[in-house]
Amino acid sequence: MSTVGAGLRRVADLLAGAGIGDAPREASMLLAEALGVERDRLALRRDELLDAEALARAEALAARRAGGEPMSHIRGWREFWGRRFKVDARVLDPRPETEVLVAAALEEPFGDVLDLGSGSGCILLTLLAERQQARGVGTDVSGAALEVARENARALGLERRAGFIETDWCAGLRGRFDLIVSNPPYIAEAEMAGLQRELAHEPRGALTDGGDGLSAYRAIAGGLGDRLAKGGRVLVEIGPTQGRAVSALFDAVGLADIRVLPDLDGRDRVVA
Ligand code: GLN
Repeated sequence: MSTVGAGLRRVADLLAGAGIGDAPREASMLLAEALGVERDRLALRRDELLDAEALARAEALAARRAGGEPMSHIRGWREFWGRRFKVDARVLDPRPETEVLVAAALEEPFGDVLDLGSGSGCILLTLLAERQQARGVGTDVSGAALEVARENARALGLERRAGFIETDWCAGLRGRFDLIVSNPPYIAEAEMAGLQRELAHEPRGALTDGGDGLSAYRAIAGGLGDRLAKGGRVLVEIGPTQGRAVSALFDAVGLADIRVLPDLDGRDRVVA
């Protein structure tokens, strides 16, 4: 019989041996998962006994993590803007950078919001959870992603205010929205090779357009005309080198007051 503290060290050693950067932190996530407790509570239980089965479960999870599986897939969820979102291989893993888009959107007044390429639903559902009066639609070309988004909507009690539609960007939609947001696949095909290992567990179509990384913005800009309410705002996440090109695309379809916003690292991250 070992203790929780010893188990934590054992799992952290396994992770560190596989080159995982923040092994102690990840070890605590995995042991918490194996024990079915909140990670924050673990520190208070270091001296408690840890039974062999729980340690074996944590070691098995550590082996998956060491093999490159994302923490979100092992746990089955990831935190975004303070809430848990179900995440698996059907959707893009919500990223902290995307919280910049959410922060900017929450500066805007909105009642009807459209999220193009909604994936897990993390953007749309966060905006609706933060604005009790708002309603919204998420679209995705992946029916499998929409299943995850609908589950997240239910889990957050937002299914009556959030609709999810399987379509290409705005195709077939009706009505106008005063806020349109998107975090589209913006990695250029040529850059994917170098990122293969890191991104192997997420759907390729959520990451790259298979071209120059700008085709989603062309499609979005081209379809906005009939969907954006008068005085409405558009916010899209971008890759750090795409600010100028994406601004030009929105300028070309007559949008005004275009701004590029940085993320916490100071890199361009959102075009508003
Ligand atoms: N909107 C989702 C997110 O930001 C999914 C984006 C995507 O699949 N490209 O996480």
